[in-house]
Amino acid sequence: MDLIYFDHAATTPTRPEVIEAMLPYYREKWGNPSSLHTSGRLAAEGMDKARQDLAALLGALPEEIVFTGSGTEADNLALIGTAIAQENKGDHIITSRIEHHAVLHTAQFLEKRGMKVTYLPVDSQGLVDPDDVRKAITDKTILVSIMHANNEIGTIEPIAEIGAVCREKEVLFHTDAVQTVGHVPINVREMNIDLLALSAHKLYGPKGVGALFVRKGVRISPIMFGGGHERGRRSSTENVPGIVGLGEAARLAREEMDSAPRHDAELRDRLIEGVLERVPDSLLTGHPTQRLPNNASFCVRYVEGESMLLNLDFENICASSGSACTSGSLEASHVLLALGIPHDLAHGSLRLSVGRGNTGEEVDRFLEVFPPIVEKLRAMSPLSPSRSADEWEGTEPDHAHEQAGE
Ligand SMILES: *Cc1c(COP(=O)(O)O)cnc(C)c1O
Repeated sequence: MDLIYFDHAATTPTRPEVIEAMLPYYREKWGNPSSLHTSGRLAAEGMDKARQDLAALLGALPEEIVFTGSGTEADNLALIGTAIAQENKGDHIITSRIEHHAVLHTAQFLEKRGMKVTYLPVDSQGLVDPDDVRKAITDKTILVSIMHANNEIGTIEPIAEIGAVCREKEVLFHTDAVQTVGHVPINVREMNIDLLALSAHKLYGPKGVGALFVRKGVRISPIMFGGGHERGRRSSTENVPGIVGLGEAARLAREEMDSAPRHDAELRDRLIEGVLERVPDSLLTGHPTQRLPNNASFCVRYVEGESMLLNLDFENICASSGSACTSGSLEASHVLLALGIPHDLAHGSLRLSVGRGNTGEEVDRFLEVFPPIVEKLRAMSPLSPSRSADEWEGTEPDHAHEQAGE
């Protein structure tokens, strides 16, 4: 049976068109883009076009794009690069408790070296309150870093509002948009974004290439030193085929910005409705409407996330529990805990993230296979019904209060 891939938040397949666009840069145009001769110029031209296509997707200028080796590197460059460049202005960074580890662990690294970091809380649906950002800003604050959408629960943050607060307070604003670029319309000007991180392999491009948007006039220090590539911001001979692939993925995403998210959202909604309807004691995590078009995430009571994944894998269905880095360890996801979900319930998390290749038949197949898996696991589960799990009522607003006393 064919594999059903519902894990697009972890990575997406590279589109055939993207691979086609990359191949000439392995086969013929393999020059070093810094070289002044024809071979180098051909490679540089491919990179220029990619820069334009990516800038167009973001509403940015080509010279505001810095190519990196990953989304993780772009986040590191944003935080560490700003901390170094602004060290005379202040020593305070504001971020949230639900960031990806690429931001969270970088913030913790800076904290160990003397920076002060505020980790803002989120509400039970994963939203950061722009007013909390405003209140946290001091005259020592040099950077606010809030992700555009969360990779585990899919909640889309009020980025434009947070950007407006930062602009008003004259504090730089970075957003980790790895989950949204190519999936949700973005305009860095309208959203008051100064720095934005993205990754090619989350938008049907190749792995090992990302970019940081750096608004014109914003100063960041490099964190890698060498030949001064990317206007001195990221030394390293460029991954030309990868960058060309990222550009092509961005161009296609822009072309399909109306149709692709609609396709995903339809499947997402069928998964959400189907799971909540057919699996008793399952809850939606994240925001009910303000969420990524491709993300359906749940907590299922009295079962372990990993057992669900193994059983789904046995049925050739790829899903995820918590983030890819968190699964495999016994710690509950920091994101789910930040929502106020109790530990035992957080261990039963399941994330389904759909993509352009998925079909309604695949959703039907999942909805047929999944409820019996939960039933079987519950029958042999040592996780007996516990009070603590009843204290969190999921994200359906109607139930938030009336069930609190149960
Ligand atoms: C995947 C991801 C990253 C890391 O990007 P890589 O290119 O895999 O290093 C960072 N932030 C978020 C929100 C992600 O989903």
